[in-house]
Formats: sequence, structure tokens, C-alpha cells
Amino acid sequence: MRNLIKKLSETHSLDLDEYESLIANRNDESRKLLTDLAVEARKKIYGNKIFIRGLIEISNFCKNDCFYCGIRRSNFNAQRYRLTPEQIISCSEEGYKLGFRTFVLQGGEDDFFTDEILGKIIREIKSRHSDCAITLSLGERTFESYRYLKVCGADRYLLRHETADRVHYKILHPTSLSFENRLKCLYALRRLGYYVGCGFMVNSPHQTTRYLAEDLKFIETFKPEMCGIGPFIPHKDTPFKDFDSGTVELTCYLLSIIRLINPHILLPSTTALGTIDSFGRERGILAGANVVMPNLSPVDVRKKYELYDNKICTGEESAQCRQCLQNRMNKIGYEIVIDRGDIK
Ligand code: SAH
Repeated sequence: MRNLIKKLSETHSLDLDEYESLIANRNDESRKLLTDLAVEARKKIYGNKIFIRGLIEISNFCKNDCFYCGIRRSNFNAQRYRLTPEQIISCSEEGYKLGFRTFVLQGGEDDFFTDEILGKIIREIKSRHSDCAITLSLGERTFESYRYLKVCGADRYLLRHETADRVHYKILHPTSLSFENRLKCLYALRRLGYYVGCGFMVNSPHQTTRYLAEDLKFIETFKPEMCGIGPFIPHKDTPFKDFDSGTVELTCYLLSIIRLINPHILLPSTTALGTIDSFGRERGILAGANVVMPNLSPVDVRKKYELYDNKICTGEESAQCRQCLQNRMNKIGYEIVIDRGDIK
């Protein structure tokens, strides 16, 4: 194990079998060594600085039916909402005052948000704050759509690949969705000059160690600027309601590995991690993550954007979330910075 970890930290690459063995045979010693090397690698590039992204959940309408997701089309218990362009802009204004310089517009795949409507929102935010970055996380769209939104000023795009294994992809999604199209979107975004983020859930139903190894190999070869990983957490109104959540331990282990695959990568410690453990986001940072994404959505819609059960931070105002995370980061010796937080 020591040799594998040493190889990873020096060459930033392992073969599939090696990734699999690194996960399957993990123990206290490998955990400690990986964590130490990951934290050291991040420190060299980012010091003790943590980047923040203001998350605005613009709509929970979704035309897709992913088996794991609480806002899937077939969940008739979900109370649907969509923010108006004015509301989205006002969230970003509030965020700007709170020191956010990146806004993430995330939502289900909602046809209301045409290129034209999104384009106007992006242009408006950018014209008010040219020092801000805009990240989109709105699922699969056409090349033309991605191109247009880029022209309007979008800088980055988060599109988790969900799993790098075709068979597993089919298990997690209805037949209308394919791994091929997910990949096509990721490569289109890359070609258009976006900063691209991929990612996956830890312990998603039927996930194997081999699949996780494939995820890591995919991250190594695709070379995303960002990577979002968090534990799978069941949602009561989905077909996967009876599956177990992922663990903090494995999620943090994988965060450390990803940091060593690309020491520069922008790696969030996610809300899902904070949901399964009250100290989860801190643990993510201490494993090598360098980004947190406080919620800027209006409080009255927070509970409705429920991808999984018991999501945290659904009751607090944006300013409270921002302050709470700042205190949490300070307590573990890190500092939130007012910065677009581009990759270094
Ligand atoms: N519609 C957009 C945004 C999806 S929500 C898209 O397709 O990219 C963002 C992420 O939440 C998803 O990519 C998925 O990995 C994660 N997610 C969905 N359901 C989840 C669950 N039950 N537990 C943990 N994470 C979940």
C-alpha cells in the first residue's frame, strides 16, 4: 500500500487494478498516509485558503427520472418550484454583498429555462459584477446551447459523470439517459472552453470497488478542473429508498486520492457530506478538499430542492450559512477567501 500511495503522489496515476486495490485494501495506515500527502499537496498550492461558491437552486422541475434523485419526474410528492429571473439575480446580489465571487446556478432539467432566459440571467449577473464567475449545473443540453451560454458569459459547468461504468450507469438511470450522452456533453463543454467539473456519488446503489476504480481512472484521464463527490443518501420517494448511504470514511479517502491525482483540482466538501455527519464538511477539508458551497437559495424553496433525505442548511438565511461555514473553517485552521477561486 505504501508503494502504491507513493507512486500515486509522485506520478499522479495508477492503473485500474492499483486503484481498486488502494480502495479494497484500505486500512488505518493507508488512510493516514493518503490524508497527509493530500493535505500537503493542497497546502503547497492553495495554502490554508478555502474557496466558496454561492449555490442558487433555480428549479426543481426535472424532465429526467434518475432512480436516485428526489426531484425525479416520477416523484409526485415533490412540491415543484422555479425561481424567477428576478429572484435569481437578487440571490446573486445578496451573495455578492456576502463576499461570493462565484455563483452556481443549479437545477433539474427544466425546459422553462431556455437558452434565451438563461442567457439574459447570465448577462445581467455578469454586467453587474464582471469580477464574478458563473458556474452552471443544469444537466445535459445541446452543444449549441452550451456554446450560446458560454458566449453569454458562463465560465464553468458542473456535470457529474455519476459513474464511469456503462453497466452501472444503466442501473442508476432510465433507458432515456446514456453514459455516451453524458460523456458527449462533458467533452462538448471541454471543447467550448468551460472549466468542467465531473463527479460521482459514493456508495450509489450497486456500486463496486471496481466501478470506483473506473471513476478514478476517468478523473485521471479526463482531467476535470473540478470534481464533485459526495455520499449517496437515499430519498424516501425514490426506487432507491432502501439503499444505504455512503460513509464519511470512504468519501474522505476518495477525496484524498483525487487530490493526489490532480493536486490543483477544485474539490468541494459537499453538503451531502455535511448531511451524513455534523462534522462532515470539516472532515472533507481535512482530507484534501478546498471548496465549500453555501446555499444562497431563498429560504422558502430550500426544503423543496431535496435530492436526498434530511438535507442540511434548509432553514438558515444565506448570511447565516456563510457565517456558519466561515466559523467551521476557522475552527479547523482554514480561511474562506473573497475570490473567484479559479484553478491555480
Ligand atoms: N440536473 C443537474 C444537477 C443535478 S443535482 C445534472 O444533471 O447535473 C447535482 C448532483 O446531486 C447530481 O449530479 C447527483 O450526483 C447528486 N445527487 C442526486 N441525488 C442524490 C442522492 N440521493 N444522494 C446524493 N447525491 C445525489
